[in-house]
Amino acid sequence: MVKITLENITKKFGDFTALDNINLKIDDREFMALLGPSGSGKSTLLYTIAGIYKPTSGRIYFDDRDVTEVPPKDRNVGLVFQNWALYPHMKVFDNIAFPLELRKAPKQEIEKKVIEVAKMLHIENLLDRYPWQLSGGQQQRVAIARALVKEPDVLLLDEPLSNLDALLRIEVRAELKRLQKELGITAVYVTHDQAEALAMADRIAVIREGKILQVGTPDEVYYKPKYKFVGGFLGNPPMNFVEAEVENDYLRVYESRIPVPGQYRGLIEKLGIKEVLLGFRPHDAEVVKGISEGLVGEVYSFEPLGREQIVTVSVDKAFVKVFAPEGEHFTFGEKVTVKIREDRIVLFDKKTEKALE
Ligand code: ATP
Repeated sequence: MVKITLENITKKFGDFTALDNINLKIDDREFMALLGPSGSGKSTLLYTIAGIYKPTSGRIYFDDRDVTEVPPKDRNVGLVFQNWALYPHMKVFDNIAFPLELRKAPKQEIEKKVIEVAKMLHIENLLDRYPWQLSGGQQQRVAIARALVKEPDVLLLDEPLSNLDALLRIEVRAELKRLQKELGITAVYVTHDQAEALAMADRIAVIREGKILQVGTPDEVYYKPKYKFVGGFLGNPPMNFVEAEVENDYLRVYESRIPVPGQYRGLIEKLGIKEVLLGFRPHDAEVVKGISEGLVGEVYSFEPLGREQIVTVSVDKAFVKVFAPEGEHFTFGEKVTVKIREDRIVLFDKKTEKALE
């Protein structure tokens, strides 16, 4: 297995910079998610690791070996794409066997390995079928089996679950995560689905416009976003942001004010900052009836979700979303106060949208 090191990777297509000086270390056996919106450069980064794209500048190492100039076939990577592209005229067995056939492996060895990997993915009873005789989830497993059969050092996956329906995605993502750990394989997983990244990855690299904004564990990027963009990209609903003015030891939001959170007291003074964005997650606040200490506003809407409900509160011109227990009754326009869990508040510089630190 290998550790991957990306050093100052830039990739240009003509004048367009798709990757802008990327530095990233992916540990041996780590599951790294590359998360970002459409067009942010995730796939380009994945294909650069695979060797399909050559970086315009920068180096790539697998362990201590510089593979920047090494062609894809000599990097021993397994690739799984979004559209699994199985060969329609080949049975499942031959589809999985294909990479070994290319290597001209002995017949017996091919058979042994194909059966082994098929068992691992619970598709050993499908080996005799053609791709069109399989469900989407089964086809997807075949594609993963084909990537794993040559025992790659690195597994690279480009939105492999996006063609599956919502329920199957959740089922397969749990299996895929387990399989990756069982095999002890280094995996890089491209997705624009924040829930998928949070659920599967050891660490997440959040990418925007060809740059990595933050790399961290799911907890770190979720609770301690370094940019407003990261807080807004992760979570459903995403983090709330309201503009606030610093007034001595308080943050003023329209007519409401809350104490500056303990973790920011010295810092705000040191930075001498006056205008911030107050960030908090919908689960890190509660809606209390009537006017009290907190963000005072009115119930704008409420959406029951089964066990809980999302309450949207208008705080003057700002709107915030907060989870409330299922049984609680709200009416439109009702006066309420949003009380935020102080230690979960994240403050951002209003201008740069970077978290204060
Ligand atoms: P998606 O989730 O939509 O696949 P992505 O984050 O994977 O998006 P990339 O496919 O890496 O994004 O593309 C990043 C940018 O680079 C896009 O603006 C895209 O148009 C551009 N790009 C990608 N491949 C090429 C290419 N071969 N030639 C020119 N531009 C390209």
